[in-house]
Amino acid sequence: MRQKRAKAYKKLMHLYHLSFGFREPYQVLVDSGMCSTSTSLKLDMIKQFSSVLQGTVKPMVTQCCIVELYKLGRGEQAAVDLAKSFERRKCNHREAILGDDCIASVVGDSNKHRYIIATQSQPLRSRLRNVPGTPIVHLNRTVMVLEPPSDATLESKRIAEEKALLPPTLDAKQPQKTEEPKKKRKGPKAPNPLSVKKKKVRETQGPPEQGQKRKHMEEDEGQTVADNSTKPKRKRRKKQHATQTDGDD
Ligand SMILES: [Zn+2]
Repeated sequence: MRQKRAKAYKKLMHLYHLSFGFREPYQVLVDSGMCSTSTSLKLDMIKQFSSVLQGTVKPMVTQCCIVELYKLGRGEQAAVDLAKSFERRKCNHREAILGDDCIASVVGDSNKHRYIIATQSQPLRSRLRNVPGTPIVHLNRTVMVLEPPSDATLESKRIAEEKALLPPTLDAKQPQKTEEPKKKRKGPKAPNPLSVKKKKVRETQGPPEQGQKRKHMEEDEGQTVADNSTKPKRKRRKKQHATQTDGDD
């Protein structure tokens, strides 16, 4: 693959990644025509997918497309074998329908499962161009080609980007909501929490200071003196607390 094409494909896959959430391994839904053409040309289809899509791929096929291959006759045995080696995508068509219709129904109107469609059907390709975010791959002779983004894809990308730029207008509404509670909070908040906190701070700061004093006294005057000065205080406090708690109980 030429460097220029490789660069264009890389850019395009980046678009599908950013705007539509495509991720590796890419799910490539392969139709019967693609299987038939690539086996008759003896191409390495998977290798071509991964070089065009520039990532790992998971080829998939629907039952309707396999049935379509059976109908093509004995000459398609290699194509049938190839298709059968792929992961089967359930399409829930009890009686097989045309491969084109089956794939179109699986993709739906938004390609929410993020399939990359590999098809040799010209009508299906034009149908899928109406579904935004649907990469389409086909064989041009022996060369695998990733189609440029469809108008629907570009339009969807443009709308998504415009939405991404919208938030400034949404912010205009939000400040009204956030400002109202702020005003309410200001009044009661200022006096009460601060005064409560100050008391707590003093209480918590007290003991460590006393502890430090005790340590100093222990160091300066000896343990016996320090014990005498501190013990009565402790006892009183414990008693007070004890009587209070007893009273509460
Ligand atoms: Zn089907």
